[in-house]
Amino acid sequence: MRFYKAEYIWIDGSSPTSKLRSKTKIIPENQDPPEWGFDGSSTMQAVGSNSDCVLKPVFNVMDPIRGKPNRLVLCQVYLPDGSPHSTNTRILCEETANKFAGYETIFGIEQEYTFFSNSRPLGWPSNGFPAPQGGYYCGVGSDEVFGRSIVEEHLDNCLKSGLMISGINAEVMPAQWEFQVGPLSALEVSDQLWIARWLLYRTSEPYNVSATLFPKPVNGDWNGAGAHTNFSTRAMREEYQPCVDAAEALSKTHSLHIKNYGFGIEERLTGSHETCSYKEYRYGVSDRGASVRIPWQVARDGKGYIEDRRPNANMDPYIVTRLILDTVCGAL
Ligand code: ADP
Ligand code: MN
Ligand code: MN
Ligand code: MN
Repeated sequence: MRFYKAEYIWIDGSSPTSKLRSKTKIIPENQDPPEWGFDGSSTMQAVGSNSDCVLKPVFNVMDPIRGKPNRLVLCQVYLPDGSPHSTNTRILCEETANKFAGYETIFGIEQEYTFFSNSRPLGWPSNGFPAPQGGYYCGVGSDEVFGRSIVEEHLDNCLKSGLMISGINAEVMPAQWEFQVGPLSALEVSDQLWIARWLLYRTSEPYNVSATLFPKPVNGDWNGAGAHTNFSTRAMREEYQPCVDAAEALSKTHSLHIKNYGFGIEERLTGSHETCSYKEYRYGVSDRGASVRIPWQVARDGKGYIEDRRPNANMDPYIVTRLILDTVCGAL
């Protein structure tokens, strides 16, 4: 019999920000990944006396690191009695996405992240700081960008496994980068983002570099890391007014979104560094100092999508897309 390696990936119970975990199962080549179990007491998902948790595969792709026929298998966590684990945020996202399916919503998420080597951002001098921000965004040259070979390898890995990555760029703070996933449905973009994050950590391992989603990796005059979430309903893709209505609807539930857009959001949304203060909600055309931006092409074309600039890099996409669906589609 022939076998393949299935890397089961799941979201743990770490607080305040959950982490990815994974382990390998050897499966006969003619079988799909079955349900499996793990020790929840080691992942902050159970107590030792009742430690079993269940992994239910929901989405799998080719494993670009081990190559064919091996797979990466994203899972949801359940309790042995068949109920979803309290850390399973996908369930609610799925329910909400089904409820508003008629709106044909699509999402594109810009995932920013920062490479660290030891406890310094990659390429930063061990004492002191690099030159102030200004030349690094979309920069080129070894004095401007750090870690590009990892970034390229990650992009290739994502593409090989069939993830819908739409682009990458070097960010404003040196050692900070971005990739974009989508546009896809709420569940698809979220599933793919979690796998793309796992691939980012895994791809960086042999370089002894850690990719982090810290929202404010360095205090002071350095940009934070966000996960701008672009979205549209079918109506928004056809007309301008629904784009404005969506931006208006988001003003009504601002504090609920802020509370759920990633731990440490107050440190990032200061009102400086291309953010709007978390205390305030504002939207505008081309405004990178707003909470929600209507891109210039959307204003020009009179249709398109809007960008929620508030989510932190360390946000849970199942939660962010669900809240946007609830607020925007619930109000329309
Ligand atoms: P920025 O100018 O903010 O850096 P990016 O090019 O990084 O923008 O990201 C834009 C994102 O918007 C991409 O992920 C893209 O897939 C997504 N996007 C484009 N059109 C739509 C649309 N109609 N609905 C939702 N998302 C969209
Ligand atoms: Mn971007
Ligand atoms: Mn960016
Ligand atoms: Mn953006």
